[in-house]
Amino acid sequence: MKKIQMVDLKGQYEKIKETVNNSIQEVLDTNTYINGPQVSTFQKNLENYLDAKHVIPCANGTDALQIAMMALDLKPGEEVITADFTFAATVEVIALLQLTPVLVDVEIDSFNISIDAIKKAITPKTKAIVPVHLFGQAANMEAIMGLAKEHNLYVIEDNAQAIGANYTFADGSKKKVGTIGHVASTSFFPSKNLGCYGDGGAIFTNDDELAHKLRGIVNHGMYVRYHHDVVGVNSRLDSIQAGVLNAKLPNLDTYNTERRTAANKYNTALSGHKNIIVPSFDLNGDDHVFHQYTLRIIDADRDALMQHLQSKDIPCAIYYPIPLHSQKAYLDTRYKEEDFPATNQLVKEVISLPMHTELEDEQIKFITDSILEFLNK
Ligand SMILES: *Cc1c(COP(=O)(O)O)cnc(C)c1O
Repeated sequence: MKKIQMVDLKGQYEKIKETVNNSIQEVLDTNTYINGPQVSTFQKNLENYLDAKHVIPCANGTDALQIAMMALDLKPGEEVITADFTFAATVEVIALLQLTPVLVDVEIDSFNISIDAIKKAITPKTKAIVPVHLFGQAANMEAIMGLAKEHNLYVIEDNAQAIGANYTFADGSKKKVGTIGHVASTSFFPSKNLGCYGDGGAIFTNDDELAHKLRGIVNHGMYVRYHHDVVGVNSRLDSIQAGVLNAKLPNLDTYNTERRTAANKYNTALSGHKNIIVPSFDLNGDDHVFHQYTLRIIDADRDALMQHLQSKDIPCAIYYPIPLHSQKAYLDTRYKEEDFPATNQLVKEVISLPMHTELEDEQIKFITDSILEFLNK
């Protein structure tokens, strides 16, 4: 059996080596490392794939979130609601812009932001909600958009983990996640579902005016060369990364299917066990692209299980071990422990297993057998 990787970028690269190499060679041949034709081609390719009116490439997923918030002209002290159980980038940019982050609990079955918790957190100062489609599964966008409309709030989707997932509305219509809110951000960090070979990110919107603003902000606030109308940043996707993404984007649906297939195999082997809760599949249509495959371990020693797996050379990880409301940088006297029952429980129960496009049946069997062996002993 091949050594098991948490993410197997090498195996994936081997299968598309020629296309990727040609794409990179083209950049080297034309010497346009910044804003080369590959970047505008990628922008168009991704707009078509997502059915989004505007894609604005940028340097990484954290910048994408920050720039999205800058373009909405939120004022210091205004409140932005986001999930307590996510990667820190989401809350970090809210705080950086001197907005007030308001962390709320998640739903225990989907790991995604709780609609009831959002409702309780809305105040007259609330200006935006940032749902994170955590681990590849869409947040309950229909309910979130409903609340946003009712309270006149912006919705910024953090789509770093769910690119390619479809969300199905109650009327049966589907949209790609990241095209439902007012604006969305994504990351092309190498291990993401669509990863480049360095840093990369993008912002999506269907709003022409907002898109224009975003294009200026990523480029030093310039709309006309050397005229700086707003305070901007320097955030670019470089041509080599765009070339890699052009080579990989046609495979994204296949990659996501491969992840879903692996998740299904894990679920089949592990569901029904008294100590395991397998991740929910497709709460809203085919909405889960399994950026992570995350189990909950109940009435058993999760950390000892982790050690058992590591002793057998099976990589695994805890995403995320500490709720954001307990992180030193984001402490706030308004938070009470009893407001975060799901997050506080999840940080003790979750364990993420190897998840990527190259998992073999033999590897999945070894992983699931090893988990069951530990829990049944
Ligand atoms: C990866 C990630 C980001 C940040 O993306 P970078 O490209 O690493 O800056 C933001 N939010 C979430 C939920 C992520 O998983």
